Order: sequence, then C-alpha cells, then structure tokens
Amino acid sequence: MHIVCCDMEGVFTPEIWIHVAEKTGIEELRLTTRDISDYDVLMKRRLKILEENRLTLADIQAVIAKLEPLEGALPFLEWLRSRTQVVIVSDTFNQFAGPLMEKLGWPALLCNTLEVDPEGRVTGYRLRQADGKRMVVLAFKSLYYRIAAVGDSYNDISMLQEADEGILFKPPDPVREQYPELPVTYTYGELREVIGPLLTGTYH
Ligand SMILES: [Mg+2]
Repeated sequence: MHIVCCDMEGVFTPEIWIHVAEKTGIEELRLTTRDISDYDVLMKRRLKILEENRLTLADIQAVIAKLEPLEGALPFLEWLRSRTQVVIVSDTFNQFAGPLMEKLGWPALLCNTLEVDPEGRVTGYRLRQADGKRMVVLAFKSLYYRIAAVGDSYNDISMLQEADEGILFKPPDPVREQYPELPVTYTYGELREVIGPLLTGTYH
C-alpha cells in the first residue's frame, strides 16, 4: 500500500514568502534557498527583516489568509485522498499553513514551527528535524508502506530520491536538468496519469 508525500508550496499553494514580499513591498523577503542555500542563514535573515520592519506573526498571517491554493489543487488532492493516504510534507511552519490547509480540506501536514513571543513577534524557528522531508519517507518505509513523493524544487530532492517513486511537479529548469532520472509532470492531469497506476487496492 502507498502513502503519497507531497510538498506544499509550488505543488498545491503559491510560495508564501514571495507573496509576503509582494504584499509588504519588502523585496528582500523574496530571497529563497536558490539565493541563499543555507536554510538557517536564510531564515535568520528573514526573521531579522521582520523585526526591522516590525512585522508580527499576525501581519504575515493576514497576507497568507488571502492566498488561494493553485488552480486545480483542491480537486486533485481530493482525488488523491480518495485513492490512498496523503501527507503534506513541507518546510513551512504550522502558524503559516493554517489558512491554506483549511482551503485544502485539512490534509495531514508535517512541517516546522515558529517561535513567537507574547507580543506576537517571531523570535525564532524550530525545525522538526534535520533533513525532515527525507526522514518522513524513511519513517513510513519502516512501517512497510511504499512511498510516492511529489515536489518541485531542491528542498524536495532527498525526499524524492528516498521514495519508491519520486516525481517532479512544475520544477524550475535547472532542477529538471540536474535530476534527469526523476519523472517530470507539469499539470495535475499529468500527475494523475503518473500516480494513478501506482495506487491499487486502497479503497478500490
Ligand atoms: Mg516547493
């Protein structure tokens, strides 16, 4: 039996920090792991920018509350969840994900946590564990599930490689070129065609 591990941002939802950058006009918040490869350095920079601009968790949550899942994401996820168990495996934070999870029908989510002081300022963050996406796949494998995984970018690669079937969804060109062994899909229809045949025997 399969569990499908799916990345969130870029697969089901827009990139949260990019929208926070647009909404607040703070260009520097557009930085991603493609600009600064060390995630800890990147996150500390983001938190410093929030502090300098006196942005609280509530300010960011207000931006996120206006975001919608990508077009077609909900029907695809509903289809997938009717076929097998699905877990969203994300580098985002619990406090950011709520509004988007609600719009996606509250799928299971494994992600990280922000540290917030009583005034609502974001003071730090806690990674669930190092290399968390790959560790989720390893953990489910230890329960004798087969794992299919879907992701769009560099932070998904170790998860996709650890999975029995790793699939890229709308990857940037450099990612696709660097990992030619991973099948590539660009629409939810294509993703259904690749994942569907893998899933047998759960409810059907
Ligand atoms: Mg992503």
